[in-house]
Amino acid sequence: MNVENLAADADEFTSNVFLVDDTALIDTGADEIVLDRLEEKDAEIETVVITHSHWDHIENLEEIVARYDPQVYAYSPSNLPDGVVGNTQVLADGETVALGAMETIFVAVHTPGHRDDHICLYSPDEKVLFAGDLIFPGGAFGRTDLEEGDRDTLIESIERITDLDVHELYAGHGEPATDNVNAQIQGSLKEARKHEPKYAEG
Ligand SMILES: [Zn+2]
Repeated sequence: MNVENLAADADEFTSNVFLVDDTALIDTGADEIVLDRLEEKDAEIETVVITHSHWDHIENLEEIVARYDPQVYAYSPSNLPDGVVGNTQVLADGETVALGAMETIFVAVHTPGHRDDHICLYSPDEKVLFAGDLIFPGGAFGRTDLEEGDRDTLIESIERITDLDVHELYAGHGEPATDNVNAQIQGSLKEARKHEPKYAEG
């Protein structure tokens, strides 16, 4: 399974956009560079999975649906733009989706706390985790000061992820991680438990 971040050279603020074997996308990002890269690569996008409905992850979605007519999966399709609803199917907790040339099976793990409709995608065979904005390499974790954010819920979600054996971590922002990934996830859990939110409550 080949994974490439199409937003690696983005100028504008955007999520990462992971292209799997030139046929599937995890998130669509918000920088037009993603659309240019897809055109350059002559990719045929069959499947798009949205980790959560924050704008920096979905701004390119309508254009990608218009160009490639893919099957889109999301935890809450109603949070996506009206124009893509006809292409979108619910991906609930524990449901699976096949991605890439080898049709690698990924399990959706509902992981709210950063956003209610947030899912991670885990491949038990490849030990790959697409983590969205739940956790990031180096012990970082998703912000909980946005609408629907909740630190205790985020911690519970990270706890679910620590049950998985992960060798490759692809988060929604920053570089991928392949070294001691399980320990890095434990680090994120520890940090999330330790730090009080920096924003005012209430
Ligand atoms: Zn987000």
